[in-house]
Amino acid sequence: MNSDLLSLSASIDSIWTYQDLLPVAQPRSGIAASVGATPLHRLAALDSIGPAIYLKNEGLHPTGSFKDRGSAVGVTAAVEHGVSAIGTVSHGNMAMSTAACAAGTELDCYVFVPDDIPPERLYNIGQFGPTIVRVSGSYGALYEKSLELEQTHDITFVNSDSPLRTAGQKTTGLEIAHEFVQNKALPDAPDAIVLPVSSGGHASATWKGLRELAEAGLIETVPRLYFVQAAACAPIARAYTNGASTATALSPDDVGETIAYSIANADPPSGTRALTAARETGGSVLAVTDKDIHAARNQLARRGGISVESACATTLAATEQLVEIGELNTTDHVVLVGTGSGFKEQRTGEIATVDASVEALETVLKH
Ligand SMILES: *Cc1c(COP(=O)(O)O)cnc(C)c1O
Repeated sequence: MNSDLLSLSASIDSIWTYQDLLPVAQPRSGIAASVGATPLHRLAALDSIGPAIYLKNEGLHPTGSFKDRGSAVGVTAAVEHGVSAIGTVSHGNMAMSTAACAAGTELDCYVFVPDDIPPERLYNIGQFGPTIVRVSGSYGALYEKSLELEQTHDITFVNSDSPLRTAGQKTTGLEIAHEFVQNKALPDAPDAIVLPVSSGGHASATWKGLRELAEAGLIETVPRLYFVQAAACAPIARAYTNGASTATALSPDDVGETIAYSIANADPPSGTRALTAARETGGSVLAVTDKDIHAARNQLARRGGISVESACATTLAATEQLVEIGELNTTDHVVLVGTGSGFKEQRTGEIATVDASVEALETVLKH
């Protein structure tokens, strides 16, 4: 670790500020060279909920989600190792992000999607030029299959919990802690971080980043980590509530539809690690309903000025639950991780408008 990082006094330029904690060095070109360094917004207009609220705006990444942190490291390492191709099993943000980071490199990129993928998702991914493979049969089996392919082919897979991806994704935790240490107007550390979870990869990576800082003596303690799932698909929250030691897969009967589709993994590969992270840091794992997610999404937009994906609006809904049960109060400083931008999300519903003619515009103004 270099001495600047050791004191967390360097400015945060990108994930490569933490180069000494990453498995590969900063590339010279492409979007991978500059991912990270997302803003931490203080959203005082939401403080009426209880604690002081901050939002780490991961939606400002080149492809609109934190997945760029892991894709940047995965793609850069694959180039460095002279591998021919990179691949991922995803039909959402991870697919888009991997394809965008691979664009302009020597790597071929393979994205494995389910054969019933909606057209707008195909466009989001396809614009970056990967080979999109529509896979029939059990999409769930593909994760294991991809690990086999990696053994027999010249391809690196950066799935949700691959070591390269988690190495990149731990920088979310590093940046949050770093920002609090550096900014004298803030407390030394947040009391809690609230993060939406699906595979559990980001959750366990964030925990790892924070533990590394604590072990190096750069922060005193790891903040309480609260993880959130949509009630319609909440295997990790179920395990937490049941006091189980492992997060096991939900049966299809226990899975419903949710607007938070980016966090709807019924068989999370890093679920148990996320469960442990929540318990060991004194946090918990919660489930929130689509109705509450919808309301939280509106609040973040109307009072925070931020359009988040439904998946991350779960963090505000969970914060409200935690205040209700007395887990969070007005003295706490809480960071919500806004994992993805709302601008890619297809939405419908009524938006209120006011009608007026050019001649009579004055009639609509109240002031
Ligand atoms: C992938 C994703 C998540 C969940 O991350 P995991 O590492 O799979 O737990 C949450 N929010 C958004 C917007 C995502 O794209």
